[in-house]
Amino acid sequence: MSGNQDRRRAAFEGCFGGLAAIGRDPGGGWTRLAWTEEDRAARAWFEAEAADRGLEVERDSAGNLWAWWRGPDAPADPAPEGADGQVVAVGSHLDTVRGGGAYDGALGVVSGLLAVGELIERGVEPRRPLAVVAFADEEGGRFGVPLFGSRVLTGALDPADLLGRVDEHGTSVAEALAGAGIDPDGFGPDPARVGRLAAFVELHVEQGRGLADLGQPVALASAMWPHGRWRLTVGGEANHAGTTRLADRRDPMFGLAAAVLAARAAATELEAVATVGRVLVEPNSANSVPERVSAWLDARAGEDQRLDWLLAAFESAVTDAAARDGLTVELASESRSPGVEFDRALTDRLDACLRARGLEPPRLPTAAGHDAGALAAAAPTAMLFVRNPTGTSHSPAETAEVEDCLTGVEALAAVIEELACR
Ligand SMILES: [Zn+2]
Repeated sequence: MSGNQDRRRAAFEGCFGGLAAIGRDPGGGWTRLAWTEEDRAARAWFEAEAADRGLEVERDSAGNLWAWWRGPDAPADPAPEGADGQVVAVGSHLDTVRGGGAYDGALGVVSGLLAVGELIERGVEPRRPLAVVAFADEEGGRFGVPLFGSRVLTGALDPADLLGRVDEHGTSVAEALAGAGIDPDGFGPDPARVGRLAAFVELHVEQGRGLADLGQPVALASAMWPHGRWRLTVGGEANHAGTTRLADRRDPMFGLAAAVLAARAAATELEAVATVGRVLVEPNSANSVPERVSAWLDARAGEDQRLDWLLAAFESAVTDAAARDGLTVELASESRSPGVEFDRALTDRLDACLRARGLEPPRLPTAAGHDAGALAAAAPTAMLFVRNPTGTSHSPAETAEVEDCLTGVEALAAVIEELACR
């Protein structure tokens, strides 16, 4: 038995280690931005790992990779219980943020491949098509559009609006796609493929400390919080930092500071989160009152109304400061994603399947965005989380214990067996 566990551990470390070797930063993190050399290497890794398990890889019209255990055109009979579609898919993404961790996205793809591998070794036969999916550009780290592959696939994003977007080097989405061998003209949704999905399950490292606090290795997701991103621009008057009396200043930084503090206070009150992680200052001079500041607010809350309240607190603080100090204020929404309730029947089914194997998965909401959130709009979707001992994510310090990862693989194998092999 323990020899078996050693073998599973070695299989995990081999598979996960292969992906983790791609996109290492000198600073210790991982950077695999969409359609870069690192991304190409990660996709090649995926194709090789899939081939090792006898899975056939194809690319959909939105650039996502599908590794089929049983071909997409194989008939599925009977249709999965309680679902109209025929295909079962599991997966996550291969790209990372800049300087991110090794587990975000990667763990879900690796676990999918290993879970299928385990079922094959055990001689389990799929009764309907099953794919491990590697979604393209989940993080939006290069072009600023998260969930790119999953949202283009489901039709939630129109590629025509996006192909002209450029990265920091002036390379457009269309050029990046062409460089990766994808014809931008054929890039778009695939409603037929999405319509055949009976279930999509994404396993992901938890990006908080919910499981660590509860002492459990895996959880099921209950819901995804609504979240949004806004750009605030406050205008004032550039002037000398020494000679301009405080009473005469029109200091936009002061207005921004009021808004940041108000967002934090509102987030505390509303049990939400608010972050200002990016600021541009003009002229950005240490001894000048700034002329203009731009800042990005990222806010997420348990309900849409709480998000509205948080934004109202942010806006009213800066509007008050503007009225007092003679500033101009512009607040523009850059993105807003509604909350997602994961499929209750599918989640209940997964819950029963995991409990039958001695697990007691709690149900946790998530404040992070995931491809599963995009898929949930189009197909029955559920998520599994694997414990992250510190809760740290989007950082090189992101981690998970190997034992917990193996429990995750086992849980996902049980889920695949339940959904695709019965
Ligand atoms: Zn992720």
